[in-house]
Amino acid sequence: MAPAFDPATREALLARVRFYRDLGLTEFYRRPVDPALLGAESLQNLSAPEPALSLPKGLASETWDSTTQPALQEDKLIPPRKPLLAPPEIADAVPSADRASALQLIREDIGDCTRCALHKGRNKLVFGDGSPNARLMFVGEGPGADEDAQGIPFVGKAGQLLNNMIAAMGLKREEVYIANVVKCRPPGNRTPEPEEGNTCSPFLFRQIDVVRPQVIVALGATAATYLLGQRQPLAGLRGRVHAFRGMQLIITYHPAYLLRDPRQKKEAWADLQIAMRELGLKAPAKG
Ligand code: SF4
Repeated sequence: MAPAFDPATREALLARVRFYRDLGLTEFYRRPVDPALLGAESLQNLSAPEPALSLPKGLASETWDSTTQPALQEDKLIPPRKPLLAPPEIADAVPSADRASALQLIREDIGDCTRCALHKGRNKLVFGDGSPNARLMFVGEGPGADEDAQGIPFVGKAGQLLNNMIAAMGLKREEVYIANVVKCRPPGNRTPEPEEGNTCSPFLFRQIDVVRPQVIVALGATAATYLLGQRQPLAGLRGRVHAFRGMQLIITYHPAYLLRDPRQKKEAWADLQIAMRELGLKAPAKG
């Protein structure tokens, strides 16, 4: 019999399941738990008459196949999230020579922003980094602790991996542009709430419209969600080119996820090779 969970544990489990679903991981396997590994309290819970975590049909079974178990079934359990804003109209193109100052203008518009709750825990606002004339742009979710401390996106461990990914593509970091959906660090690195993403993402769209890269690589489900204006499992979005505001959008895993599950690096590399093909890039020779 499944154990009963206290509300906090239950919410944490739901958040974890939602997180994996957003990453495109939709198959879950249960294995027997050695009772010796469980404390007395857990053993008591194991004999509780009703499981408090009543997962919807399909999710509670041995495997969960997203093609047969639509998200709506999960939504019965998880309260519907607030709608996403539709992506804004595409702004007029900015001449190459004016892009740096156009980006600076956006930064000034953001100012010492208090438009959403994320400002409360912020040390440094993380606007963006790289070339205003980049042909390739990476979009992540939001700053982590290192980024919040330095005010630069992707400078922690995930940033190191992103740097390696950029180098593997035959580019230098300063040749690309990097920005996030939200400019301030969500507490505990949680996923931004829809209010936060909706409030901040218009600045990202302005950055995108100024830089106007040929190819954008969205890193992870949150970036993909706000760029596309709709939620879809990452698995269904990866591996192909999406038309996006006159640019090409490719969606892959977030480097932080790749650090947790390096087995997916091959998949991410396949996505980056699509970007390279679109950009006419060849991987640098080894050695
Ligand atoms: S996350 Fe964006 S909207 Fe929210 S406070 Fe920071 S800059 Fe402002």
